Amino acid sequence: MTYLFENYKRAPIEFVKAEGSYLIDSEGKAYLDFSSGIGVTNLGFQPQVQQALIQQAGRIWHSPNLYLSSLQEQVAQELAGSYDYLAFFCNSGAEANEAAIKLARKATGKQGIITFQQSFHGRTFGAMAATGQDKIKEGFGDGVPHFSYAVYNDLASVEKLVNQDTAAVMLELVQGESGVRPAEAAFVKDLADFCRREEILLIVDEVQTGMGRTGQLYSFEYYGIIPDIVTLAKGLANGLPSGALLGKSSLAPAFGPGSHGSTFGGNKLAMAAALETLHIMKETGFMEEVRSKSAILLEQLQFAFQDHPKISAVRGLGMMIGIETSASLSKIVEAARQKGLIILTAGENVIRLLPPLTINREEIQQGIAILKEVFSELDE
Ligand SMILES: *Cc1c(COP(=O)(O)O)cnc(C)c1O
Repeated sequence: MTYLFENYKRAPIEFVKAEGSYLIDSEGKAYLDFSSGIGVTNLGFQPQVQQALIQQAGRIWHSPNLYLSSLQEQVAQELAGSYDYLAFFCNSGAEANEAAIKLARKATGKQGIITFQQSFHGRTFGAMAATGQDKIKEGFGDGVPHFSYAVYNDLASVEKLVNQDTAAVMLELVQGESGVRPAEAAFVKDLADFCRREEILLIVDEVQTGMGRTGQLYSFEYYGIIPDIVTLAKGLANGLPSGALLGKSSLAPAFGPGSHGSTFGGNKLAMAAALETLHIMKETGFMEEVRSKSAILLEQLQFAFQDHPKISAVRGLGMMIGIETSASLSKIVEAARQKGLIILTAGENVIRLLPPLTINREEIQQGIAILKEVFSELDE
């Protein structure tokens, strides 16, 4: 018997404690976490973030956005870094994308948003409309109009959809939920150039790829582009609900007083966690270390599975890795769990790995060993 809607298929275990890269269930069994709770606890279970939270909880944990917030200011400044970005804080990825869609429409006075097939942008009506997957929308009736879907990595398909009413193009630089598919570098560069020429805003959904997940604070840094609008959530506050929209300061007039808002957005606990998270990620050498560890993980998996009859590709960017397989995803996830490793799936045929960025080399080897075992025992 459950009192919950069964919109999630839940595994029959409950995590009751966490430490570093490990989760501990109610029976006391420890699991190595190669999921970061779907790309959220990017620093693992981190004592410094925990301390920041406890400290903030001892002072004040909520104050409405009718008053100044030096915590929001500090997080916004850290997020902007050397970029010309202003921030708006909300509570989730879908909300960040809603804000992005609203900002793009208001700033341009146009309505059309071009996104991509197989994209994922969230579950609210606007974010769902942006999502290029029919199965996400099934049964929910009329969606938000003026969205159209281009083919990923195909600029000509974008050009075909552009018209007088096009406000923005929106994309993930690694399509996460649908199968861990990194965008091609030349496509992204050409798309950014095209958008600038046509005065179309470029929105990059960094909800999953941001906050160091790919080995840079933002995945757009790999592509040599600067989007007009960026959305963040998952890893932003290392597990506290939080989302953010970053937009170029030239867009500021469109988001004047009263135009958009959120009761909980920029909550003080979330901001205290986000600030500490950002401080840790900006320590010298942190991202270099993430890149070098993730290269080890990717290379070793590619080597181990190069001749596996049921694996057709191992790909990824930073600590975001997909193993494309013809084997049953649910069986693999369960077999890994039995052996003490938590992994994720993406789309119909991809095992997705999102280990904490702080994972150490020994833990990487442990995870690889379990994955090798699971895939070698597939047919037994
Ligand atoms: C998870 C995700 C979202 C939705 O975030 P929520 O916090 O669940 O609303 C949006 N975009 C991308 C790319 C995501 O991975």
